[in-house]
Formats: sequence, structure tokens, C-alpha cells
Amino acid sequence: MRTGLILPLLIFGCQTSPLPPVEGIAPPKPERPPGEILRYIERLGSKNATICLDAVEYLPYFGQEAIPFLIKALESENPNRRALAAATLAKLPHRDAIPLLIPLLDDPGALSLNVLSDDGETIHAAYPKGIPAFVAQQAKTALRAITGKSFRDRAKAEAWWNRSRGTFRVKKKPEQVPPLPTHAKYLRDVRICIDPGHGGDAHKLGYKRGLTYLSEAEVNLRVARFLRDLLVAAGAKVTLTRHGDQDLSLKERAKMASNHDLFLSIHHNWSRNLRAKATSTWYHLAPDQKPAATDLARFLQRNVFREIGLQEWPPEGGLMSDGLMYQSGFGILRNLPAEVPGVVCELTYYSNLEMERKLRDPAFNRQEAYGLFLGLAEYFYYGLPHAKLISATSGELRFRVYDGLEGRKAWTKKYKILRDHILVGINGIRSNHAYDPETGILSVAHTLPPGTHRAKVTLINLHKNHSLPRTIPFQVPSRK
Ligand SMILES: [Zn+2]
Repeated sequence: MRTGLILPLLIFGCQTSPLPPVEGIAPPKPERPPGEILRYIERLGSKNATICLDAVEYLPYFGQEAIPFLIKALESENPNRRALAAATLAKLPHRDAIPLLIPLLDDPGALSLNVLSDDGETIHAAYPKGIPAFVAQQAKTALRAITGKSFRDRAKAEAWWNRSRGTFRVKKKPEQVPPLPTHAKYLRDVRICIDPGHGGDAHKLGYKRGLTYLSEAEVNLRVARFLRDLLVAAGAKVTLTRHGDQDLSLKERAKMASNHDLFLSIHHNWSRNLRAKATSTWYHLAPDQKPAATDLARFLQRNVFREIGLQEWPPEGGLMSDGLMYQSGFGILRNLPAEVPGVVCELTYYSNLEMERKLRDPAFNRQEAYGLFLGLAEYFYYGLPHAKLISATSGELRFRVYDGLEGRKAWTKKYKILRDHILVGINGIRSNHAYDPETGILSVAHTLPPGTHRAKVTLINLHKNHSLPRTIPFQVPSRK
């Protein structure tokens, strides 16, 4: 959430054009345009070493969807793009790439990259003569990955293709499916809004970037996509607030959280202490403002911390109030709908060189997402208590109380709500109540006039999970 260093390190060779948003990979959705893939394809042609090599690492994430764009990029005017598209296709083997890779075996195109001098004052070519015939070399590597054959020259490859094109099939590698722990089944049908922090800032030199020019917005989006894929695989309903390098106001993002059970904003942190790396998870103002958000924060914090292998545990458990940063808290949390608990997770620090190096690696981004995923799974595994209105008469309201652990083959249904911690509010005013743990019935005597009113019941179950901050509207009938 903090301001990044302004360090125009390397030539930012990638021009981002305004492209339509993209949803990423699985599960396929009809409305998904390929904007984000195109942005990475663009980057393959960059002269900035970190930018184009990062694209080679990340493009395989898009899987089958990226293949037609990579194949098209083999015909690009830009030799960097031709070579690095071939290098990426080596990781995404597809037979359609073969006829376009074969002519590249003759391609004299060199790799030409720029880096920064040791004193940071001049930008110069990484290889003054380039790497000659680099395109040909990458085409050869890609053909070997796709066909399993190493061709001495173009003529040999063409002869083989003429013989084999009718029968050749790419050997499919088994897909790597991340392990879903058994408690992930409690994520089924939950609605989660994920907000990849920032965006629309790729063109701003030095904005929220690390020392080697990693963009926070970009890493936030990668982690969000990986998390989305895991959640969807577990049966959750997921909304991402942005799908590409888009600028969205905090209000717009917060509004998208309506009709979701939870909101999670994904960020990476910056500090002038270049050694800082610990995860922190931020709730809005006070821990009991939306107690469900604090519960969620606790599960996210410890799972992320463990999963990304950080050793130094933060002194106060890493849960922080956004009131420490701004008197009225973070705009994103302040603007959330009253019924949606939300947190901001600062996964680690991109200002730390060691962490920035890790954050460049999509495998590490996947690990961060897996930590968040485990936190969400654990949160729902422990059940969300809730109350259901069963009757509203002119003198009394009756609710049935649930501990959120129904259907778990428990020995008993009783006593799993902390009875001394039940709170009932009617129209925002605390009310007395009576709770019978034998029947699970909560009754509230009232003297309300006829008409529409609102009740809010806050419950805690034995795992210390709070109910979501839901409002229950009800009608008091007129006395007859
Ligand atoms: Zn941020």
C-alpha cells in the first residue's frame, strides 16, 4: 500500500496498449478476451532483460490459451520476440508450432538485451554483438521439446515433417494439479471477492516497483489468479476486481464485493528497511468492528507465513489495524459493504531484494496463493455460525441458532455456540435475549411498533469463528 521507490533501472522497452481485460486461465469463461496474454507477448520483444525473461517464465501459466499467440509471435519482426516465443513454446508443446519453428532453424536473428551498468549511470547492451543465431537455437530447443528429436538442420527437419505430419502426436505430460486438502471441500459455493491491488500503472516508470523493477501490481494479479484457480477447483465462486493492468478506484473495487461472503485484497509491501519481509494482514480500525474479518485475517496470516517459509515471526502475530496507517483506515476496507468482512494481506516485501527475486518466480507466486487458499479453507472448515429468524410476533422474535458445523457427523448438536458471547442488536440497539442450548432457540422480547425492522445476531462457535455481519430484516405485525 506504500509508495514504491522511483528507480528507472532498465529500459522499459514494453509498450502497453489499452487492451481489453482478461480473466486468465481455467475454468474457461466465454467473456474472456486475451488482453493479458497479448501484454506478455508484447513483453517477449522487450529489450529489457528482466521484463522479457519474466514473460517467458509467466506465459506458460495461460496454458493452451497462450499457444496461438505464441505461434503467431514466431513470425514477429522482432528477433527477441521470435526467439523467446520459441523458448516459451518449449514449455507448452503443441504440434501447430512445428511448421513455423522449422523455418526458424535458418533464422540468423540475434538476441539483443539491455542492462544497467555497475554504477547505475548507463544502459548498455548485455552482449555488444548480441547472441548470433539465437532465434535458430531456441527454435531447435523448442522442436526438441515438442518432437523429442534433435534436427541437425532445416532440411532434415522438413524431411521429417513431410514424412510424419500425418501421424505425429505430441506426448502429453500429466497436468500438474495442486493438491487440494480434504478440508478444502468446505469452500464449496462460498462467494469470495479477490482484489489484486493497484493496476493501470504499468506505464509509470518506477511506480511501486522493486529494486530490480518488479511491479507490485503485476505480482498481485498473478497471485490473485493462482488463488482464483485453486478456489474454483474447490468449488468456490470467485470474482476478481481486475483482470489486467486496469486502473480501478478503491470505491469501485469495494462495490464489487457486494453479494460476496468475503473480500480479500492482495498486496505486497514496501519499506525503507530493506530487510523487512514479514507477512502482515490488515483489518479495518478495531478488531471487533467486523470480528469475522479478524478471524479470517488470523487464518490467512498464519497459513501464508508458514507456506512461504518465512522464519522471523512478527512480534504481534502480524495482524494490524489499518488505523495505524490512516486515521480512517484504508479506503478499500472503509468502503466495503457493511455485510462483507474484508482484509488486506501484504504477503511479503518487494523492497527486499531476496524476496523480490523469489516474487519473480511464478512458482513462488503459486505458493503464496496456496498459503492464502489454505487460510480460506481452514477458516470455512471451522464453520461460520449464523442465526435464522423463525418467527416475529408483536412481542417476541425467535431465532434458530446454527454453529456452522451442521452435517459434520458430530456426536451432539448442542453447546457449540459460546452462550455468554451472543449479542443481539435490534435497529442498532443492543437487546436482551434468552438462549436455550438444548433447542438452539434464541428469543428476544420486544416492544417494537408494527413495521419493518432490522436484527443483527452475533455468534461465536467453539472454534472462535464469528458469524458474518449479516442484517436480518423482519416485519412486526400489527396487534389485533
Ligand atoms: Zn500495495
